[in-house]
Amino acid sequence: AKQQGRNRFNYFAPFMQEATRARMTLANEMRDALMHNQFRVLYQPVIELSTGNVVKAEALVRWQHPARGLLCPSEFIPVAEHTGAIVGIGDWVFRQAVQTVKRMQLLHDKNFQVSVNGSICQFRERGVNVAEWLDYLGEQRLAPKSIIVEVTESMLLDTDHAVVHKLQALHEAGIALSLDDFGTGYCSVAFLKRYALNFLKIDPSFLMENEAGPALCEAVIALAHKLGIRVIAEGVENQRQQVQLLAAGCDFGQGYVFSAPITSDELDEMLSAVDKS
Ligand code: C2E
Ligand code: CA
Ligand code: CA
Ligand code: CA
Repeated sequence: AKQQGRNRFNYFAPFMQEATRARMTLANEMRDALMHNQFRVLYQPVIELSTGNVVKAEALVRWQHPARGLLCPSEFIPVAEHTGAIVGIGDWVFRQAVQTVKRMQLLHDKNFQVSVNGSICQFRERGVNVAEWLDYLGEQRLAPKSIIVEVTESMLLDTDHAVVHKLQALHEAGIALSLDDFGTGYCSVAFLKRYALNFLKIDPSFLMENEAGPALCEAVIALAHKLGIRVIAEGVENQRQQVQLLAAGCDFGQGYVFSAPITSDELDEMLSAVDKS
């Protein structure tokens, strides 16, 4: 069936839109990108608001394309999800994240955590092999709780057996789960409880600019805390937001006011500076 699909694409190729052709070129180039070591991972520091310490980081993938330069996730993740390449890329990002968190724990902070982003297709039938991820953690002698998998609301709402099973397996193994982009979807409280989430990531622009303002922000944070979920505010760009979030009881902050995404070497330097002070 796959072969047939390919032939059909070729048949229609001369009539295709420019954008469709560009996506197909990108999809073809992506096949060898992993083998040719063209992906990079940047880490965005996550700050504990009460202390100012960098206690976690989020792994964010980039593609160093030989002709087009450094590509952001929005330029290639949708294609990777469509072709299934995201599974291999996601496995590679996971391994990089494991290496980085191991290094930060050995050099700086034994409780340091690194999060990786999950795409829904990674959790379907032919997606991630959770047992392989756990084997890798074992080989590297890293506690599963050092890794956080960021999931979306649509993943929590998905009833596909494989998705439910894989998320459950990650949780049972001790890998932390974080709900990304909270507030942009359905925000069902029942689903927050179902997967025993460890973290919830909220977009402060959504909360702060909402009519209810800080009151809504405080309510969401209080509810999360009641459920044993700690809150990370994303996209914190200025000190006003930082102060408001701390006052609202938010646990962690991530955003340009603290740091843009940086390399693992730069993260190491950032944590070294703190060690010395
Ligand atoms: P996200 O998970 O919501 O990641 C946060 C995005 O916000 C990142 O963009 C980050 O660079 C950006 N950001 C950080 N601080 C600020 C700020 O203060 N203000 C604003 N306006 N933006 C900020 P990035 O790196 O381009 O990633 C975009 C999206 O791509 C991510 O959104 C995530 O959904 C996806 N993504 C990144 N890496 C991976 C990956 O390895 N696998 C999968 N499946 N998705 C990934
Ligand atoms: Ca994320
Ligand atoms: Ca997010
Ligand atoms: Ca996102």
